[in-house]
Amino acid sequence: RLELKNICKEFAGRQVVSDLSLSVAPGQVTCLLGPSGCGKSTTLRIIAGVERQTSGELWVDGQLICGDGLRVPPEGRSIGLMFQDFALFPHLSVAQNVAFGLNGKKSENSPRVHELLARVGLADFGAKYPHELSGGEQQRVALARALAPRPKIMLMDEPFSGLDDRLRDGIRDQTLSLLKEEGTAVLLVTHEPHEAMRMADEIALMRNGRIVQQGNPYNIYNAPVDKAAAGFFSDIN
Ligand code: ATP
Ligand code: MG
Repeated sequence: RLELKNICKEFAGRQVVSDLSLSVAPGQVTCLLGPSGCGKSTTLRIIAGVERQTSGELWVDGQLICGDGLRVPPEGRSIGLMFQDFALFPHLSVAQNVAFGLNGKKSENSPRVHELLARVGLADFGAKYPHELSGGEQQRVALARALAPRPKIMLMDEPFSGLDDRLRDGIRDQTLSLLKEEGTAVLLVTHEPHEAMRMADEIALMRNGRIVQQGNPYNIYNAPVDKAAAGFFSDIN
């Protein structure tokens, strides 16, 4: 379980994340939903450990990983990342890319690599190179790579936005059900209300660095906290 407690972040005196508290359970998808610039990616970067909060605490499975003078480095956090520019290594084969997720070991022939490629539907693709794959196939390799070390938490920052509409729904659904099966706690950033409504167990609506409403999709849709929140969902029916 991932827990954020009263996270604040300032850049040059400007508050970009304000008193943000959030919890994501294993096997659950929480969507951070909000307009451009509201602080979604900054929040993920703080959790990943590439940015440090100004104040507040991060916990994973009841262990403090950042706060109160303590800071576990990114590689010690059991956190996987999938971002929009997921960048496979072009000079490594598909199997080598996935193996890279296993402590960077050269374990391209390990059973875990085969299992992961099979799970994303690319069992026969191990020897191919990224430039030989479609965008959707590359994304599935990136997913297999991110899953390889069995992270407890998966952070996803608009990972599906580079895909065309037809591919996107299938890959998104497949990816998130795989993560649920593995019992991963998923925090998914999006500015697409449709995507959040479809995928989320829980939605945290963000604005100006704050969570303005949090709950399951139907509660938020049926009882938006204010006009702006209602407007956000107004094109969904
Ligand atoms: P988008 O939907 O466009 O990706 P976002 O919600 O992910 O937006 P962030 O990237 O978290 O937004 O940025 C939040 C605010 O913090 C923005 O105003 C941004 O300009 C500012 N910001 C982000 N990173 C830095 C930085 N390293 N230094 C200064 N300001 C920053
Ligand atoms: Mg962003």
